[in-house]
Amino acid sequence: DNKRLYTPSTIQEILNRHGFTMTKALGQNFLIDGNTVRGIVQGSGVTKEDRVLEIGPGIGTLTEELALEAKSVLAVEKDQRLKPILEETLADYDNVEILFGDALKLDLKKEWEDRFGQDPVHIVANLPYYVTTPILGALFDLDLPLKSLTVMVQKEVAERMCGQEGTKDYGALSLFIRYHSDPEIIRQVPNSVFIPRPKVDSAVVHMLVKDSDPGIPKEKFFRIVKAAFSKRRKTILNALSSYGFSLTKAEIREILEKSNIDSIRRGETLSLTEFLVLAINFPHEF
Ligand code: SAM
Repeated sequence: DNKRLYTPSTIQEILNRHGFTMTKALGQNFLIDGNTVRGIVQGSGVTKEDRVLEIGPGIGTLTEELALEAKSVLAVEKDQRLKPILEETLADYDNVEILFGDALKLDLKKEWEDRFGQDPVHIVANLPYYVTTPILGALFDLDLPLKSLTVMVQKEVAERMCGQEGTKDYGALSLFIRYHSDPEIIRQVPNSVFIPRPKVDSAVVHMLVKDSDPGIPKEKFFRIVKAAFSKRRKTILNALSSYGFSLTKAEIREILEKSNIDSIRRGETLSLTEFLVLAINFPHEF
């Protein structure tokens, strides 16, 4: 255990020796706590059978733990300056590969398939907070055999990801996550386990990807969700009919009726299933 990266003194020594200064704009808050690192990896449920895709390895703290617990790790890091550090910290692990580039720009589907074909993907990451939602969107859109995601995010984002209908945390993000997976907050993480300390607390969300997606075209579904949440205080009828769809208010009233949804309800009270039924009853073009 002594050899592990995650003690504060080891990490500080490495950063100093390499003259590395963290860049706020890249969301660089590095973990310095073994319990948190092990907690994330245990919570991910990955075993020696599983291959992991990590976003943002930083100096390799979580990567090292994953290398020990998983079959292999492909980690994508945007900051080229971390190259000499990662070469040193992960030198002992032959089941790790670091790919330098922007996770939002690389063709991750191709990179994965070139190496591992159709092997299932487990994502584990302490995400850079400035791009949490675009990265989650891109990962779910990858069209790879994605099985699970275990990500550390800002606490408030974790609560929105797992938000239940009727609560203040429920919104388009909750529905996006639930469309694809069953999410759960598995760990609360105080800001004291990072250097530098972020202003906000964090939480780890584990998402088990659903075997088959709901079968409603995603784009259609999310246009309706977006419209429903565009006016928080309006009824679902008013929100949908003032959004700019090419449907009359009477037509939308009819769709709601057909979907068994009371037109005076508010968008934030509709469950995933109700939104799916609504999407089924919308015409192809609207
Ligand atoms: N995994 C490390 C840890 O837990 O200590 C570092 C986590 S830190 C919160 C986020 C990491 O993501 C940083 O290393 C940062 O350079 C990297 N990063 C930021 N934006 C990125 C992007 N668009 N694509 C890939 N990596 C990115």
